[in-house]
Amino acid sequence: MALQLDVVLTKQKKEKPDFGRLGFGQHFTDHMFIMDYNPEKGWYDPRIVPYAPVTLDPAAMVFHYGQAVFEGLKAYRTKDNRILLFRPEKNMQRMNISNDRMSIPPVDEAFLLDALKKLVEIEQDWVPTAPGTSLYIRPFIFSTEPYLGVRASQTYKLLIILSPVGAYYAGGMTPVKIHVENKFVRAVRGGTGNAKTAGNYAASLKAQNEAKDLGYEQVLWMDGVEGKYIEEVGAMNVFFKIKGEVWTPALNGSILDGVTRNSVIHLLRDWGIPVQEKRIAMEEIYQAHLNGELEEAFGTGTAAVISPIGELNWNGNQLCIHEKSVGELTMKLYETLTGIQYGEVEDKYGWTVQVNETVASS
Ligand SMILES: *Cc1c(COP(=O)(O)O)cnc(C)c1O
Repeated sequence: MALQLDVVLTKQKKEKPDFGRLGFGQHFTDHMFIMDYNPEKGWYDPRIVPYAPVTLDPAAMVFHYGQAVFEGLKAYRTKDNRILLFRPEKNMQRMNISNDRMSIPPVDEAFLLDALKKLVEIEQDWVPTAPGTSLYIRPFIFSTEPYLGVRASQTYKLLIILSPVGAYYAGGMTPVKIHVENKFVRAVRGGTGNAKTAGNYAASLKAQNEAKDLGYEQVLWMDGVEGKYIEEVGAMNVFFKIKGEVWTPALNGSILDGVTRNSVIHLLRDWGIPVQEKRIAMEEIYQAHLNGELEEAFGTGTAAVISPIGELNWNGNQLCIHEKSVGELTMKLYETLTGIQYGEVEDKYGWTVQVNETVASS
C-alpha cells in the first residue's frame, strides 16, 4: 500500500528569529514531519504537522537502551531564490545503514526524500538569505515501545525538524586547534562507528570537554584497537595533504561515511590530485611534519563543509600546520563545494536537487 502524506498547516505561524543572529540549532520552523512504525503496519501515518512536543511513555525503550539514529543536511538559498539540497539521497541511504546497525526497520528512501522536500518547500520562508546561512534539516528515528526487556523495540517514530542556521564562518575561516586523543576512543572494530547513532555522540562528550579544558576545539580520534591509526576529527572526517597527495582514513567500519568526505574525494580526483583512502598512523603524520611535508589538513562535514586544521597536539608535540593559516587546496575545496551548494558554481556532477518552484521575484 502506497504511503499517503497528510499535511496539516499551522494556524499560528511563529515570529521569525533575527536571521542576522541565528547561531546553530536554536530556532525551529512552524512544521515538522512525523511518521510511526509498528510491526503490523510498517511505517505508517506520514504527516506534516505544526511543530510540537512529542509525548512518550517513561518506559519508552529509547530512554533505556538508546536505539536512535539521525541525519543532518542543509537547504541553501541561491541568489535567484532557488532552494537547493545537496546530495540528499546519500543521507537517506546512510540512514538505512544506521538503521540496520541499530536494529531499526528500514525506511523507504524515495518516499522519505519526497516528504523532506515537501516539508522544506512548505517552510521555504525559513531558508535564510544571508551568505553562508542555510536551513539545517534533521531527520531522526527513535524507539518508542514501553518495555524494559532488552531487545529491539517493536515501535518507532521518525521525525524531520528544520532549523535556520547562521554562517559557520561568520568571522572568516579560521583554522582550529586539535587535541590528538590518547585516552578515550570513539568507536571500535565491530562497534557502531559507521552508524550515525546518538550513543556515539554521548560517548564522545567527555573527551570533547577535556580537550576544551586543555585549550583545543576538537579531538582527533585514534582507532579503538591499537590507538595508533587516525579515524576522524570530532564529528568530521579528516584529510591531510602531504607532498602534493591527499590522504584520508579508509572506511573501515568504525568511521562515518561522510557525504562531504565523498564529495571532496570526487572533486580531488576530478582535479587530478592523487587521493589515497588508507590506514594512516599518527606517527606517519608526525614524521611528515618533521620532514616539512605536511602541507595542509582539514576536517569535512555538513555543518562546516571544510574546517582547516592549524595545530595538532600529539603526545606533547605541537604540530603547526600551514603556519596556522588556511591552505590553498583547503580553500579551493571550500569555495567549490559551497559554490555548488549555493548555485554559484556549475553543478556538473548533478549533486544539487531543487526543492521549490521559483516565482519571479521583484
Ligand atoms: C555526520 C558525521 C560526519 C560528517 O558527515 P557529512 O555527511 O559529511 O555531514 C563525520 N563524522 C561523524 C562521526 C558524523 O556523525
